[in-house]
Amino acid sequence: MEEDCIFCKIVDKKIPAEIVYENNNTIAFLDISPASKGHTLVISKKHSKIISDMADKDLNDLILTVKNLSSILLKFNKGVNLVQSNGKEAGQEVFHVHFHLIPRSENDNLDVGRWNSHKYKDEKERKAVANKIRSFF
Ligand code: AMP
Ligand code: ZN
Repeated sequence: MEEDCIFCKIVDKKIPAEIVYENNNTIAFLDISPASKGHTLVISKKHSKIISDMADKDLNDLILTVKNLSSILLKFNKGVNLVQSNGKEAGQEVFHVHFHLIPRSENDNLDVGRWNSHKYKDEKERKAVANKIRSFF
C-alpha cells in the first residue's frame, strides 16, 4: 500500500470503484473516464510504479487476469485494445501499473492503437537502434 496512490486506495476499498473482478492478487474495475463502454483497468494488488519494477510472479498474475477479462469483453465486443503506459512521457498519469482494456466496435473512431509512422534515416540508423537494444541482454 502506497500512501498517496489512488489505485492502492481502491484495492483497500478506501475509495469506491466499480469492481468487476477480484482475486487474491489482482483487481479489475471500470475506468472513471472511459474511452468506450466497458473500458476496464486491471491492476496487481501490490503497488509498483512501472512494469519493470514488478516481480515476475505479480506480473504473471496480472497478465492472466488481463487475458481473462479480455476474453470476457470479446464475448460482447468486436475488439479490445490493451494499453499499458510507463512514464509520464508515455502518458502515464497514475503511477500504479495498470492495463487498460478498451472495447472497440466498428467505426467507433477511437484514437487508440494508431500512430503516425516514421522511417529510419537509413539502414545504419536502424541497425544502431537494434544493436542498442540487443546490447542490454
Ligand atoms: P494512465 O494515463 O494510463 O495512467 O491512466 C490512468 C487512468 O486511470 C485514466 O484513464 C483515468 O480515467 C483512470 N482513473 C483515475 N482515477 C480513477 C478512479 N478513481 N477510478 C477509476 N479510474 C480512474
Ligand atoms: Zn498503488
